[in-house]
Amino acid sequence: MNSYNVAIVGAGPGGIFAAYELKKQKPELSVVVIEKGSALHRRKCPIDGVKIKSCINCPSCSIMNGFGGAGAFSDGKYNITNEFGGDLYKYVGADEAIELMEYVDAINVENGGAESRLFASERPDIAKLCLQNDLHLLKAKVRHLGTDINYIVLENLYNQLKDQVDFVFNTEVQTIEREGERFVLTCPKEQFTADKVIISTGRSGSKWMESICQSLSIPTESSRIDIGVRVEVPYDIFSDMTDALYESKIVYRTKRYQDKVRTFCMNPHGVVVSENTNGIITVNGHSYEDPKLYTNNTNFALLVSNHFTEPFHQSNQYGESIARLSNMLGGGVIVQRFGDLIRGQRSTEDRIENGFVTPTLKATPGDLSLVIPKRQLDDIIEMIEALDRVCPGMASDDTLLYGIEVKFYNMQVEVDDNLETCVPGLYVIGDCSGVTHSLSHASASGVYAARKIAEK
Ligand SMILES: Cc1cc2nc3c(=O)[nH]c(=O)nc-3n(C[C@H](O)[C@H](O)[C@H](O)COP(=O)(O)OP(=O)(O)OC[C@H]3O[C@@H](n4cnc5c(N)ncnc54)[C@H](O)[C@@H]3O)c2cc1C
Repeated sequence: MNSYNVAIVGAGPGGIFAAYELKKQKPELSVVVIEKGSALHRRKCPIDGVKIKSCINCPSCSIMNGFGGAGAFSDGKYNITNEFGGDLYKYVGADEAIELMEYVDAINVENGGAESRLFASERPDIAKLCLQNDLHLLKAKVRHLGTDINYIVLENLYNQLKDQVDFVFNTEVQTIEREGERFVLTCPKEQFTADKVIISTGRSGSKWMESICQSLSIPTESSRIDIGVRVEVPYDIFSDMTDALYESKIVYRTKRYQDKVRTFCMNPHGVVVSENTNGIITVNGHSYEDPKLYTNNTNFALLVSNHFTEPFHQSNQYGESIARLSNMLGGGVIVQRFGDLIRGQRSTEDRIENGFVTPTLKATPGDLSLVIPKRQLDDIIEMIEALDRVCPGMASDDTLLYGIEVKFYNMQVEVDDNLETCVPGLYVIGDCSGVTHSLSHASASGVYAARKIAEK
């Protein structure tokens, strides 16, 4: 049996930064990181656009799983803010949360991110224009590593850690049990024991996390899901915002339902991509720092936040059902021109081809009104019209809408101010805790839990 002081489950940003900080604070501790996916250099999605054109549902998705976690091929936008990206500040305090995110940023910069840009959304003129149109611009600093530099940073972090920490790849932790004062982690071919366990299995590990909470009687709560579309417009439509801020997080409360709709994950010059979470295909987007890889478009998500109340607890299943409907109709992601949606007609290959916006993702032209519930669709249309007042052209006929984009929120795992569960020595961090939903918050939560363990 492999015996360690600390076992970390999951090598996403949360797990990586927990390992980094543990070794920094207490080099004498023995640490193992067990990861279901592959090492970074072995992470390859089989879609090549020629032989394999769409997702073939690999047992472990190289986009979501492996060293670097769901963020490895992401746009690498590290938002330094308490206004979005998670609720870490509620556990650690607002100032400490920001300090932790700054600390993570400094490590990223040291490890290859020095050339990347740091944007600050302190533009009173843009904030005022938004406010005059009932739109609310959230404040944040954003380090945009870009997919290319993000990969280099991860490579450097791995090279730094690999001789100090045992990484066990392609190994899924199946169960975690308490045996006396220690934990036993059972994997298909081997077992590990540890004094302390940090779970950081991200969104892809959400179902597994649920089973662990059940088996160890850790209380949870689940009530939120964000549903929407990814929008693609010519770069110039949003350039005033993106040139100044890179990512503008704008929130709007709809007149009709008083629902909150927000922009999310903005990618100037970016590409729209499909994403597979537990066999369900949804849409996402990213962009590159390297100008050679720029496209002529900007994409971002428009998401409607849905908070359910008693007796409904299955918010993720609700989102999955809508995504499945979209997969059923479109065989994957559906794309529709805004003009077609407003006129109540499906988009066709011809209509997309004759439009002035060239899609960056090959998706099935279709009708999103057959997929997205009326309330959320009305919300999205109202938000597009509101955005058109600050970025004219947004509500053009040719604006492309890809569906559907779902932001699954992991159930909220009950943890204390140390991010420790009611099972002493078991910490839950990152996106699988429900406390965070971003790279910077997940990474910061890893540093924080590591420090708490080191203190003990
Ligand atoms: C395409 C895309 C783009 C994104 N872009 C951004 C962005 O620009 N900015 C931003 O802030 N956020 C972004 N995100 C979100 C961000 O990636 C996540 O918030 C972040 O990765 C969460 O980190 P984590 O460590 O909690 O979990 P993850 O990164 O999901 O890592 C969890 C790891 O645990 C492993 N695992 C799961 N279950 C088990 C198990 N049972 N045993 C062993 N290992 C297991 C998984 O394989 C995975 O590698 C993006 C996400 C995607 C998918």
